[in-house]
Amino acid sequence: MPQVIDGKVISACIKEELKERVAVLKETRGMSVCLAVIQVGKDPASTVYVGNKKKACAYIGIDSLSYELPVETTQEELMRLIEELNHKEEVNGILVQLPLPDHIDENAVIRSIDPKKDVDGFHPQNVGALCIGQPGFVSCTPAGIIELLKRSGIEIAGKECVIIGRSNIVGKPMALLLLRENGTVTVTHSRTRNLKEVTRRADILVAAVGRPKMITREYVKEGAVVIDVGIHRNEAGKLCGDVDYEDVAPVCGAITPVPGGVGPMTIAMLMYNCVEAGIAGKVPGTDRKGNCL
Ligand code: NAD
Repeated sequence: MPQVIDGKVISACIKEELKERVAVLKETRGMSVCLAVIQVGKDPASTVYVGNKKKACAYIGIDSLSYELPVETTQEELMRLIEELNHKEEVNGILVQLPLPDHIDENAVIRSIDPKKDVDGFHPQNVGALCIGQPGFVSCTPAGIIELLKRSGIEIAGKECVIIGRSNIVGKPMALLLLRENGTVTVTHSRTRNLKEVTRRADILVAAVGRPKMITREYVKEGAVVIDVGIHRNEAGKLCGDVDYEDVAPVCGAITPVPGGVGPMTIAMLMYNCVEAGIAGKVPGTDRKGNCL
């Protein structure tokens, strides 16, 4: 059977390290870290995500400010709040929970966040920085996947890495991060021809396709490392990923389960970005790495 890459254990480890770092910053420099979380409307899934982020902040010792705005909030009102938070010195990170209601232009909102406080790593300046290998915040899910690989002793350099999906928050930054780690990267998508032929080349296969259990063993080379980014809930309320775990596990070398694989890493890396935002420029010899640990 394959090595099961345990995102629960690895994310818990990262949170412990961050808790320690935050405590030391408080003790030795009287510094605190603060994340502002903005939610517009009451989408139930968003409420759960926001609640989990606030819980993680409390656990690590990061202060969190919560802004729960009504669904009819205008774009101008939202951007005014962001502008205020951009100027508040005690606020280190700003997170706007997506998706936003249809009448609000998500891209304009993301652009209005100060890139130095953009702990989600979605601002074009941070995306551009990642592209040309400069410091900046990195999108949390792909950054978490790099941590999963590194902390599981899986080498990336020189490996054939194939990503299924080219979204701005997973597929594209994933490609750039694997490239930064010296992987040989192929990005596939809905218009890729002969998808199985391409994915079967992968030593490391990342599925971020958004289709439940689409990736069966025909897509996977024997012994490959399979990273499942997908999260889906079936009618019975049970979670599954983009990968058909039972079918793929017997033929691959390592695999992330759903739940308990990539999912927990996203919040851990968000917390990491918050701590980096908190210390940026304030502690000599440190800079906003927004990188992997
Ligand atoms: P998305 O819908 O934005 O992108 C999906 C991508 O898959 C697209 O680029 C599309 O071209 C490609 N695609 C669709 N059908 C395909 C097909 N038949 N063959 C090949 N490619 C195909 O999705 P996303 O935001 O990147 O998310 C992907 C999955 O990851 C979703 O299930 C989402 O819920 C999950 N997700 C999980 C986390 C986490 O924290 N674990 C974070 C973000 C997203």
